[in-house]
Amino acid sequence: MSNDYEDEVDETLQCNACVYEIDTAQKRNLHYKTEWHRYNVKRRCAGLGPLSERVFLQKVNEIKAQSAGTQAVRCELCNLNCKNQRAYEAHIRTKKHLGKELNKARQVCVSFDLLLENHSSFSFSFLLDILFCYFLI
Ligand SMILES: [Zn+2]
Ligand SMILES: [Zn+2]
Repeated sequence: MSNDYEDEVDETLQCNACVYEIDTAQKRNLHYKTEWHRYNVKRRCAGLGPLSERVFLQKVNEIKAQSAGTQAVRCELCNLNCKNQRAYEAHIRTKKHLGKELNKARQVCVSFDLLLENHSSFSFSFLLDILFCYFLI
């Protein structure tokens, strides 16, 4: 009597690749389309045990975070590819890059007053860099 529920569960509804219990055929079909399931099928082919959905999603997020950090960022001004966001941020603080920023600003603004008048077209950090360079020269 206490085993009524378990008796009704169809054994074939368990996904063997994920060792995951599924209660309806519809859910099983949806499950077969998930990245998690496909990943576990690959693992099984490689002779590895299944990952739980939670661990799988954690790995996916780690990979996403890593790939975001290693994406190349281009500095159009210097015609240079920086290998990631961090390298780009270091690059835009270099004298070489700031010099180019200043030259660009000089082309746009013939005087310091004009630079201030046009400040709305520049980002605040860019303006600070320009002001810094301006008073160095
Ligand atoms: Zn599965
Ligand atoms: Zn640059």
